[in-house]
Amino acid sequence: MQISSEIKTYDHQPIIDLVDIVKERPEDHRVVDLSSLSGTDAEKIARGRLVASRIKAPERLLLIRLILPVAAILYFSLSPVSPLIVPLYGIIGACFFFMLYHLYLYRHPATRPGTQRKIILSANQVDIMVAHLSWMFDPAIPAPMMLLVAVAAIANGFRQGGAAFRAILKLTAVLTPLVILARVQITGVHLSALPFVLLNAFFLIYAYFLIVRMDRLQAAADARTTRLELNNYKLKQLGMALQKSEARYRNLFDDSSVAMVLIEDNMLISLVNEKFLTLTGYTKSDLYNTKKLSDLIYEDDLQRIRRFHAKRRRMGGTTPTEYECKMVDRENNIRHVIIRFNITHWHERIMATIEDITSRKQAKSALQTSIKRLRQTASRLARSQKQYRNLFENTGTATILVEKNMRISMANTKFSELTGFSKKELTGKKRLSEFIERRNLIRIRRFIGKQKEKGLPLPTEYECLMVDRQRNQKHVVMKIYTPPEQESSIVSFFDITKRKKAEAALQDAHERLRILAVMDELTQVANRRQFNDKLASEWQRLLRDGRPLSLIMCDVDCFKAYNDTYGHQNGDRCLRAIADTLSRSVKRSVDLVARYGGEEFAIIMPNTTLSGALRVAETARSAVANLNIPNRASSAEPFITLSLGAASIVPARSVSVDDLIKDADNALYAAKTSGRNQVVGGLTGDNKKGDQRHIRRIP
Ligand code: GH3
Ligand code: MG
Ligand code: MG
Repeated sequence: MQISSEIKTYDHQPIIDLVDIVKERPEDHRVVDLSSLSGTDAEKIARGRLVASRIKAPERLLLIRLILPVAAILYFSLSPVSPLIVPLYGIIGACFFFMLYHLYLYRHPATRPGTQRKIILSANQVDIMVAHLSWMFDPAIPAPMMLLVAVAAIANGFRQGGAAFRAILKLTAVLTPLVILARVQITGVHLSALPFVLLNAFFLIYAYFLIVRMDRLQAAADARTTRLELNNYKLKQLGMALQKSEARYRNLFDDSSVAMVLIEDNMLISLVNEKFLTLTGYTKSDLYNTKKLSDLIYEDDLQRIRRFHAKRRRMGGTTPTEYECKMVDRENNIRHVIIRFNITHWHERIMATIEDITSRKQAKSALQTSIKRLRQTASRLARSQKQYRNLFENTGTATILVEKNMRISMANTKFSELTGFSKKELTGKKRLSEFIERRNLIRIRRFIGKQKEKGLPLPTEYECLMVDRQRNQKHVVMKIYTPPEQESSIVSFFDITKRKKAEAALQDAHERLRILAVMDELTQVANRRQFNDKLASEWQRLLRDGRPLSLIMCDVDCFKAYNDTYGHQNGDRCLRAIADTLSRSVKRSVDLVARYGGEEFAIIMPNTTLSGALRVAETARSAVANLNIPNRASSAEPFITLSLGAASIVPARSVSVDDLIKDADNALYAAKTSGRNQVVGGLTGDNKKGDQRHIRRIP
């Protein structure tokens, strides 16, 4: 088998014209036919050279065998001379008996091999003995008897081959001298016997040389036979080896995983393997000597193959031996295959292997389709990405794309303007957390943690402070949107710094207004309105609690005189100093110092008994006195002093706030009338009855 040296693959035009392959390779190869190597011819040659004529027909053999006894009977019955020892009828009877014996042998050939040969040999020997003995008892000359012996010896000898002839000769060589001696004893030496003796001697010598010659011929024939047998043996061995190798190839052929086909020079398929049958769905009987391989090739491909070959013939190129094409199987399914042709040395046969690449093709085309689809998707994505990028860029708000680890993967121009970082500095490098003010960040994180803990949804908007490149803080609203099933979030920032500033200014104004509304402008303590509100609300509260509410009313002594002496401006200054001192004298935050009007102040003390209020009043009085602001026109002391009246009440339905104020006023009046610079306390309403001792004067 020779594999072509010109294996070329034509990817684009995988074409072959099967007829051309044979035409283009007209090599003549010697053909060895194994069937001609059997042993029969050798035998024929060997036998043909032997010098022997075969007497095939048994009838002829019988005729010869019968001649002897018949001739003997005729001889003895017609001979005028009577035998010497045995009576004539005895001899004729014996001859007759042997005739019958031969007829018996003719009718009943021995069934076992070798038996007939044995019997015939012994029969020959008996023939010779009869011939000799009959002659011995014959007184006449022995010439006719000699002929009988010769006929018996030669006929039997040639019939049975060299061995029989040799046996007859031996017997004759022994018997003839004995017969001669016996005749000499019985009849004496006669000259008439001399030719018989000479003839016998000649016969024996001739026979001896004949035997030697025959032996040589036999030896030569044997040698030739041996040689031929040896050759035959070798040829048989060779044949077996060839058969074995053929079997091996056949196995290879049958068990190959590749479909194989053998194409005769008439282009018909002559042999296929199992794989080929599986591939095409045909049976062997469908294919062998009926179909051509080209019948199985898809029509369009075959046309292309032929066109290609025609072209190649014109161009003078060689024919490729490997083709990719489509094949049609029995059920008209199309299979993609690669056909490879090898021209074998045998009879110009073509061996083709067919590889099924359908699944490979399908996989390839599926891959190509999916690649195409991927490309389409990619270009669509690229388009939409571009659109989204534009959208992202032109949203009008600072927007970034933030990955799960807070890293910024995309930022638009607005954001880079907002932060002062270029897009390059931002993308993939900065984290969102870097732009949020530290405390804000902590707050947000804590808040998110808590929300998560409670399983509450996270807000999508945070108002927080943002830090830019120059560490300037900006108020922003941060909107976070995470598209469903996505890792990254879109974060937009709305700069609300201006709004915040405006808000703060407004709040300031509000605060100022609020303070203005409740504070006394001159002394910076609560004004009369706040005093009223506070007193009313505390009244209600303590009414519910059943706890006491105390009120201290203060009036600067001889302040008119002060104004007159030191002027109004100093008077104002003095009032501010008194207000400060009063505020400091009050220790509890719930207590309120208010300017009641002119140079009068009031202190509201919730949850305080009269004794507590008196203590505070006394503290205030001494503190103001200790200020030591000169008031030389004062009728009380040469410095500024206060008169204080304290009252306490447990709010009840039966009394009102006014009662409390009235009591405190009364106490103040008492202090004034008692000489000023003192504290007077008194109980109000129902309390008056219970605790009179609280009404006292403190110098
Ligand atoms: P008394 O000891 O009896 O209280 O004598 P007094 O002079 O303090 O009492 P009177 O009520 O006659 O005088 C109050 C004076 O307080 C009148 C007014 O000149 C002065 N005064 C009231 N409000 C202010 C103020 O806001 N500034 C100044 N400088 N003086 C004020
Ligand atoms: Mg007054
Ligand atoms: Mg006064």
